Amino acid sequence: MKKFSLFLLFAFALGVFLLLKYFGPWESGSIGGPLIHVYLVAENKTLQMPLEDYLVGVLAAEVPARFEEEALKAQAIAARTYALKKTEAFKDGGNPVHPQGEVCTNPGHCQGWLSSKEMKEKWGWLKYREYERKLQHALRETQGVVAKFQGRLIDPVYHSTCGGRTENGDQVWTHSVPYLTSVSCLLDQEAPKYHGEIAVPLNDFLGRLDLNSNAKSFNASSLRLLAKTETGRVKSISVLGKTFSGGEIRSKFGLNSTNFTWEVTKDAVVFHTTGYGHGVGLCQYGANGMAKNGAKAEEILQHYYQGITLDKMY
Ligand SMILES: [Zn+2]
Ligand SMILES: [Zn+2]
Repeated sequence: MKKFSLFLLFAFALGVFLLLKYFGPWESGSIGGPLIHVYLVAENKTLQMPLEDYLVGVLAAEVPARFEEEALKAQAIAARTYALKKTEAFKDGGNPVHPQGEVCTNPGHCQGWLSSKEMKEKWGWLKYREYERKLQHALRETQGVVAKFQGRLIDPVYHSTCGGRTENGDQVWTHSVPYLTSVSCLLDQEAPKYHGEIAVPLNDFLGRLDLNSNAKSFNASSLRLLAKTETGRVKSISVLGKTFSGGEIRSKFGLNSTNFTWEVTKDAVVFHTTGYGHGVGLCQYGANGMAKNGAKAEEILQHYYQGITLDKMY
């Protein structure tokens, strides 16, 4: 009988814990911040919402919600800085690409964004309760905090996995930015796309490079590495005498990164990649590795964006 009441007590406590975890009253509702117009590309409509609430959807789209709290806080500051920089740049008359709003939901143009409905679809209903709160918490804990360099908002570019060393900003964009210099990153090896492989059938390979007419003369030595960037990524290669940048090869064949090697087999070119993304700025998996080792959000940001300071704007 005694055992049974102990069991009941335990079951009751567990029930209360789970109820609070998923349905607890704290941290619900709007987090606030200045209003922002978000252009939803797929629906072709614009929503106006408080910045911090918009950022919940950005984090949901851009970073694994299971990440460590300090990594999520670093990402929250980066995403907020990114959005505020856009707002600042397009104050008069909206973004030239989408005058409907300062930011859009296309991750290739602004930042990705998920609505509550999309978050439920992505995580399932129970995880949604947990993760939405976790992301909201990261935003509340850093509310209004942005990253600046010499007093101005930075371009807080980020990517999934750098593969051991981040890339210099001027290797991806034409201008050099002091805080986007290459740094070592030794804690991103847990990333699911640390190593990747893509086999491109020979016909496709030559076709997409407009080299079909030279197919007969193609062999293993038709691909030559011309130059690497300082961090070991492919800067340019030659295929049958025609030059391509690493970035062109990456986008033509959907490679995870420009950090690649290749082998030519009988009927395909097989690319082996390290890392995922352009490699510049904050490495998300590296940030999570740093957080697991006890680093705070500020330390993480100051590692990937050299020389920056944090400032609370509201
Ligand atoms: Zn956009
Ligand atoms: Zn990294």
